[in-house]
Amino acid sequence: MNIIYNQVFKTNYQNCTLCPRECKVDRTVGQTGYCGETDKLKIASIGAHFGEEPPISGTNGSGTVFLTGCSLKCCYCQNYQISFEGLGNSYTSEQVVLEFKKLVRSYNIHNVNFVTPDHFFPHTIEIVELLREQNISLPILYNMSGYQKVESVKSLVEYADIYMPDFKYADKQLAKELSNAEDYPERALESLIEMVRQKGFLDSFTEEKLIATKGVLVRHLILPDHMQNSKDILSTLFIEFGKDIPISLMSQYYPSAIILHNEKFSKKSFLHRRITLEEFEEVHEHALSLGFRNMLVQFPQDFKLRKDIDDFVPDFERKKPFKGNR
Ligand code: SF4
Repeated sequence: MNIIYNQVFKTNYQNCTLCPRECKVDRTVGQTGYCGETDKLKIASIGAHFGEEPPISGTNGSGTVFLTGCSLKCCYCQNYQISFEGLGNSYTSEQVVLEFKKLVRSYNIHNVNFVTPDHFFPHTIEIVELLREQNISLPILYNMSGYQKVESVKSLVEYADIYMPDFKYADKQLAKELSNAEDYPERALESLIEMVRQKGFLDSFTEEKLIATKGVLVRHLILPDHMQNSKDILSTLFIEFGKDIPISLMSQYYPSAIILHNEKFSKKSFLHRRITLEEFEEVHEHALSLGFRNMLVQFPQDFKLRKDIDDFVPDFERKKPFKGNR
């Protein structure tokens, strides 16, 4: 990798302000901020993943990189082993590219999918450059928490093809309680506006393709007992972007180990259960009443056959963390 890249690396990880936490720590000398990671790339899993939305996973799978650490750290995180507990191994960008070459050969994956990449943006840019040098021209997908800085999203314009951000909270107080990020609603909306400005809506909807190659898909996970938060998010999306914005409405909430074992969160009884059918329907009906045309919906009824924690929560101690991928 060239000298300019190395300089970009240094400036981003020194006095780090890559995400809205703006910790200003020097990660190049081993310091860590809120995300918990130094400037050494750490990854919990790389593999073909079949659990994303159909235009992303397709039939061959999405080449997914689960980066260790997280700048948001929601208390209900399903990936708590990597977001809170730092599970993962050190990689160089060159090693990641080798893994992708294997995935292309073995699965013919549809895309490169960086999961929670914010605190490693400079490394993801380097990986994309290396992939291009190797003539691997798969769509590059940034799969994010929604808690981004607009400046960071702007820096990805030449490297990202697809953005798949969450929009978790319209309610500041809830964002503070569950993710320690009272400013989440503003950060999520302003970064989403920038993503849509750059890439438009997901082309699997706008051009009726089976597999997406470009654009934005917004995800929202319905939380138990917080229907108004979900409805306010949907209203915000409608007002800002209209009824064509692609949305993935998710009902797979499942209590995480953090909630069960952390005293602060274990008192929040609403977090200890899955959402009810009535709660889902209230949110879904609101979405339908707004007239969204490009909506992927995860119906709770689809989980009838899922009973164990293992059916909902991945285990990153395994080579293939997701049950469906084994
Ligand atoms: S990326 Fe990590 S160290 Fe940098 S500002 Fe965000 S949380 Fe802090």
